[in-house]
Amino acid sequence: MRETEELTARADRYLANTYARFPVVLERGEGCRVWDVEGKEYLDFVAGIAVCALGHCHPAVVQAVQAQAAKLLHVSNLYYIEPQIRLAELLCEHTFADRVFFCNSGAEANEAAIKLVRKYAKEHRSPERTEIITMEGGFHGRTVATITATAQAKYQMGFEPLLPGFRYVPFDDLAAVERAVGPRTAAILVEPIQGEGGIRVPTEGYLQGLRKLCDDTGPLLIFDEVQTGIGRTGRLFAYEHWGVEPDIMALAKALGGGLPIGAMLAKEEVAASFTPGTHAATFGGNPLVTAAAFATLKTVLEEDLSARSAEMGGHLLHELQTVQAAHRAVKVVRGKGLLIGVELDREVRPVLTRCLDQGLLLSSAGEKVIRFAPPLTVSAQEVSQAVGVFDTVLREVTG
Ligand SMILES: *Cc1c(COP(=O)(O)O)cnc(C)c1O
Repeated sequence: MRETEELTARADRYLANTYARFPVVLERGEGCRVWDVEGKEYLDFVAGIAVCALGHCHPAVVQAVQAQAAKLLHVSNLYYIEPQIRLAELLCEHTFADRVFFCNSGAEANEAAIKLVRKYAKEHRSPERTEIITMEGGFHGRTVATITATAQAKYQMGFEPLLPGFRYVPFDDLAAVERAVGPRTAAILVEPIQGEGGIRVPTEGYLQGLRKLCDDTGPLLIFDEVQTGIGRTGRLFAYEHWGVEPDIMALAKALGGGLPIGAMLAKEEVAASFTPGTHAATFGGNPLVTAAAFATLKTVLEEDLSARSAEMGGHLLHELQTVQAAHRAVKVVRGKGLLIGVELDREVRPVLTRCLDQGLLLSSAGEKVIRFAPPLTVSAQEVSQAVGVFDTVLREVTG
């Protein structure tokens, strides 16, 4: 443990104290496994918080990064960038969207969406349409605009004044949105499945109802698929489960295969409100990250990892339901594809810590929900192994 202790002491001395880190220094990864500096192996059901869709060090991503790094890292959007063009084309071919704005994170993708709907509403609706309706329990990022969009007090507390122009309603409550929507509504922003809010899947008809409400009354519909996108829920994008298309979509997390990238996708008519000079990001879509993202998305498509996510997610859900039947502490198991939440009757941190000891990485999604989000390449045997460890730990920790 000496190397871990030495490193964590230095981290605690020099890093901003913004994370409640587990006392482990991860050093190397391959597929669904990672190793710490002591050489201990872990089965990774966090995947960098739904980022590493292809697992760690997938050859397609490694090769793309190595080749691009040796060729050109960065030039700025003053010039055309070939891997960025390829990636935008591939995204538009496989989504509702016609145009893509690249940035560096999920928060920035949502920021771009917020700016775009404000500008679009002024140009095509009316200057009074400035309000964005978002859902309680949602999560959209940590910038001032996106914590304002995030209708959860714990993310906002201490950072007031928040940004004007947001209105909150309960998630999965169509009637509440119908009551809130009006001549001031510029957009409705929603995660098709709430991630950080506890892996909450809306009831059938909810997202279709939001689409119809927008069509009937004028606001734009924004889907935040930062967590649910790129095959995570068993379809390439979660909106496909409900046959509903947004006007704008935010992506990040898994898109870059581990490199930091965000993207805001929009329909032509809406995207047209961004013109030269209206929005920008220095690093947005730079050659390295877009080469990695192109390789990632291409691999997800070619290997049909969305279907694999649906299949392995089915296994995982089934096995976790068996665990649920054997433990009173487990209240609900829910999710789609390889994004599954297990809600306990208590705080989950002690369970996560014990799983870590036993070589299984898991994260929380809220205080009482454990998130299972392994790489989409996970095997049935790895699913069973993870559930076995989880079952044993639950028995120990919850009795
Ligand atoms: C993680 C997440 C974000 C924020 O992404 P960052 O890259 O951390 O800024 C936004 N929306 C959703 C749904 C997320 O899961």
